Amino acid sequence: MNCIVIIESSNNKIENSTFECISLANKISDNIIAITDINDEKIIKSINADTLIIIDDIEKIYLYDEEIKKYEDSFFIMSDSLMNKKISSQLSEIFKLPVLSNIIDLKILNSGFYCKSSSYNNNVISGINIQSGSCIFLIKNNSFDIDILNNKKPELIHLKSKKNHLFKMKIFNKKEINNKISLNDAKIVISAGRGLKSAGNWEMIEKLADLLGAATACSKPVSDLGWRPHSEHVGQTGIKISPEIYFAVGISGAIQHLAGVNSSKKIIVINIDSDAPFFNNADYGIIGDAFEIIPAIIESLRKNINDKS
Ligand SMILES: Cc1cc2nc3c(=O)[nH]c(=O)nc-3n(C[C@H](O)[C@H](O)[C@H](O)COP(=O)(O)OP(=O)(O)OC[C@H]3O[C@@H](n4cnc5c(N)ncnc54)[C@H](O)[C@@H]3O)c2cc1C
Repeated sequence: MNCIVIIESSNNKIENSTFECISLANKISDNIIAITDINDEKIIKSINADTLIIIDDIEKIYLYDEEIKKYEDSFFIMSDSLMNKKISSQLSEIFKLPVLSNIIDLKILNSGFYCKSSSYNNNVISGINIQSGSCIFLIKNNSFDIDILNNKKPELIHLKSKKNHLFKMKIFNKKEINNKISLNDAKIVISAGRGLKSAGNWEMIEKLADLLGAATACSKPVSDLGWRPHSEHVGQTGIKISPEIYFAVGISGAIQHLAGVNSSKKIIVINIDSDAPFFNNADYGIIGDAFEIIPAIIESLRKNINDKS
């Protein structure tokens, strides 16, 4: 059965979560059709697919409904991101298919599919039998291995929509949020909360992130206060991430925050208050003042790096 994979990128780099989807697709299907709006051959050659459909704007896939309908004998795989939530709802309407999110395992059966979906902060894993010919699966980040094998030479198809965009928009200027590691891709995330007191105190968080090759994140109040950009806000109403290591510095651990970070493989909490609820969800906890602990960690890492060089 054909598998259609939606390619997600940021700063002209394909997200690791998309490579997870491509690897999974190649394991369970023998005909992979990838859809992207990246039109740079150097970048798209890393996509291990049989067919590569290039459109102008992936977030407006509904404009290509007539053109992509011929692939209706397919199922869909894409990472469980904000962008793909939008895209999956458009595909669901075009192909009249159900959408399943937070998928951590997926198999094709003779009669349909079997998948596992994680919910309630990873506390419930549901096994789901799907007895329909097709479905749209949103894959939870860091749930599947990335296979670096790239042995396919995809047929390139450039699609032009016959329809006009419903809304017209002119972009005057594009500003990159930052050129650091994307939050979705990061193996290590250093996140900080209101305990840091002011925007100026993020310098030490950024230094630590640089030393560890990590991305930075924050709690909701921090982005509401304008101390950090909204693109760093994690939690129930923000980005949901599952890095290998999540550092929570000066964050109390409210349930709404945990909803976005609870599936991190290891959680390290630094908080001055030994009763902070985050300690109940931590693998390692440091009780103390972030303004003493973070500089001490930075100094020790620097010493380690200097000793090695
Ligand atoms: C509908 C809804 C949705 C929400 N969605 C989200 C969401 O997506 N993401 C999110 O984060 N929140 C969300 N919230 C808010 C959430 O309930 C909490 O209010 C918020 O997470 C608290 O942020 P915080 O931990 O940074 O701040 P605080 O609760 O103020 O905690 C600050 C912490 O810093 C510690 N601290 C203080 N000084 C130091 C120091 N020097 N060193 C170390 N530690 C120190 C304190 O002990 C405290 O634990 C939502 C709330 C609602 C109602």
